[in-house]
Amino acid sequence: MEAQAASPSEGGASPRALPHLLGIEPLGIAEIQALLDTAAAFHRHAPEKLLAGCRILLLFYEASTRTRTSFEVAARRLGAETVSITAASSSIEKGESLLDTVYTLRAMAIDGIVMRHADSGAPALVARHVDVPVVNAGDGMHEHPTQALLDAFTILRHKGRIAGLKVAIIGDILHSRVARSNLWLLSRFGADVRLCGPPSLLPRAFASFAPGVSVTYRLEEALEGADVVMVLRIQMERMREAFFPSEAEYVQLYSVTADRLRQARPDAIVMHPGPMIRGVEIGAEVADSPQSVIREQVENGVLIRMAVLARLVGGRIAWP
Ligand code: ASP
Repeated sequence: MEAQAASPSEGGASPRALPHLLGIEPLGIAEIQALLDTAAAFHRHAPEKLLAGCRILLLFYEASTRTRTSFEVAARRLGAETVSITAASSSIEKGESLLDTVYTLRAMAIDGIVMRHADSGAPALVARHVDVPVVNAGDGMHEHPTQALLDAFTILRHKGRIAGLKVAIIGDILHSRVARSNLWLLSRFGADVRLCGPPSLLPRAFASFAPGVSVTYRLEEALEGADVVMVLRIQMERMREAFFPSEAEYVQLYSVTADRLRQARPDAIVMHPGPMIRGVEIGAEVADSPQSVIREQVENGVLIRMAVLARLVGGRIAWP
């Protein structure tokens, strides 16, 4: 599976050692491709003992269902043991500082840390203070690199390429780390990315995020001839003020319904990183339609997270 980079010269050299995975932005094309290739290889055959004897710490300061479970399954499929710490069940709740927590946990002979935090940059801070790989499982509004990798993997399985595809990303772009990671990845591989949402959730400046990225406030325009339709949730938890007049108005203008989806190509795929709010950003009939690859995204997430852990913690993978 080739992602077909738009400009192979950009970061196109063979992958260097990857000490941490903090975002897609710092990765070159070759590194991204190597992770995608490894996930594809694991689909055919997973080396069950690759991480035998390793212990992965899952440190989640923010709610997560899919991502935490997915990392846990991925680590175990490679033979690793996991230790899971969530904000509601630890001293994190009592206000223990981030670095104090990490220093304490380091004493537990940890081989890698997978971390989610409400503050952008928190995993990068931890990475500077530990001698094991740190994987960002979502930091504030910054990045969610494994989501973008699993999205790319899913697109490639259905479309065979990324270059030249018309990808509509619809919803709360402003607060979305999923959108940011996808923007870095999709633009780097030559997709035509159309961002769409209400102006308050999609500043015009996003159009200069990267080459190939455009902004529209009209859903029909974003959907017209799209190959991939990626729908995002409204991130209420990151809003301190009202960003749109009412949910009803949002639904009227931006909800991806079966009727509106007809503007996209008949073979367009529909994606959503979850959690989905049916009836708000996406119609239930769209979420369950044959065009929806939402459940497959979850399955592919395990393969991608296996590839990431193998590459960072295992460091024993021969590159395809
Ligand atoms: N699960 C994704 C994230 O953690 C998307 C979302 O929460 O809406 O960013």
